[in-house]
Amino acid sequence: MSPFPASPSPLPALRTLCLALGLALGANAWAADPATAAPAPAASRAPAATPSAPAPAKAASKEGRDTASKTTPVESLPTNSGSAMAEKIRAALSGTAIVSKKMTVTVEDNPKPPPRTATPTPPAARTLATQRYQQARAAAVAGHAAAPAAGDKAHGGEAHWAYEGDTGPQAWGKLKPDFNTCAIGKRQSPINIENGNTLQGPAEPVQFAYTPSNGTVVNNGHTIQVDVQGENTITVRGSTYRLLQFHFHTPSEEQINSKRFPMVAHLVHKNNEGQLAVVAVLLDEGAASPFIDKVWTYMPLDANDRVRMPQGLLNLAELLPTDQRYYQFMGSLTTPPCSEGVLWMVMKQPVTISRGQYRLFTQLYPNNARPVQAVNGRVVREAL
Ligand SMILES: [Zn+2]
Repeated sequence: MSPFPASPSPLPALRTLCLALGLALGANAWAADPATAAPAPAASRAPAATPSAPAPAKAASKEGRDTASKTTPVESLPTNSGSAMAEKIRAALSGTAIVSKKMTVTVEDNPKPPPRTATPTPPAARTLATQRYQQARAAAVAGHAAAPAAGDKAHGGEAHWAYEGDTGPQAWGKLKPDFNTCAIGKRQSPINIENGNTLQGPAEPVQFAYTPSNGTVVNNGHTIQVDVQGENTITVRGSTYRLLQFHFHTPSEEQINSKRFPMVAHLVHKNNEGQLAVVAVLLDEGAASPFIDKVWTYMPLDANDRVRMPQGLLNLAELLPTDQRYYQFMGSLTTPPCSEGVLWMVMKQPVTISRGQYRLFTQLYPNNARPVQAVNGRVVREAL
């Protein structure tokens, strides 16, 4: 049973997705980390302990490399999303789904280039979105007809992958040799975090140092991602990581005691050694998030389109929960090539988004979450 039934909306699934971390997957220094079975204190797993090899250039930045790929049936999702939530979402999706006036204005005022094809008149925002989606989908099906987003040029040939159908998660590892880790990796993400199995105790706080920054919102065919330029770092385990980008998944890829949340934001950071650290902020239904409003306002509807946000508008500090305790474990990118050695920190306290904010994203991407992977004895630290 899917808590997020095939959308009755005319926007099926552009699902192709996220490259989420695709970023520079830099070195896999932590992949060799022996802490798999032993609950080593954070300090003992300092990056310096495991020399890393620089990532090959071609492994860098995979964002948005794939354009939307052809997709078919909706992948069935885990059943544990919370029936109340599912009920609300179902109701929302089956409703008229009128996009807010604000969004209408936003779309019209976007500083991005005009649509590639004539935009029919005045349509309700939803109709406009539908048309754009269909254009993007047609272009994708036609074979990367859409102009690649900036930054894609460096990418070599990339296998199409999706969240369902023949190129869905179960097939990622076979799509190309570079994706092998998706199938055989032992420290894959996402995972279900069971409170009963965590290593509970004191843990160093993650030191967030986020400041007003510039952002470019990218619809990369896998997700909505915001590339960030500014002074934004986190310091943990004796290393400082710079924020590169953040993006979204729905439903949340991480599960807490087998429960999924409506969405999750992944904040991807990298240190000077090329190691990645991802902070996951769970998004639950509730009050609207002013931060999400800012991002959605500049959300490009076409795959491979990007929109620059006004200077200084973006401040990730506005997205963080007030309680910054977290779960920490070693994992991988949740999208091909599923490289391991990624330090994950999942914030325990969710932040809220409104149903309308949720709906806006899911109209573009109804499902872009990889199923949970085997924990394989990994230790999950739970900061108390
Ligand atoms: Zn992600």
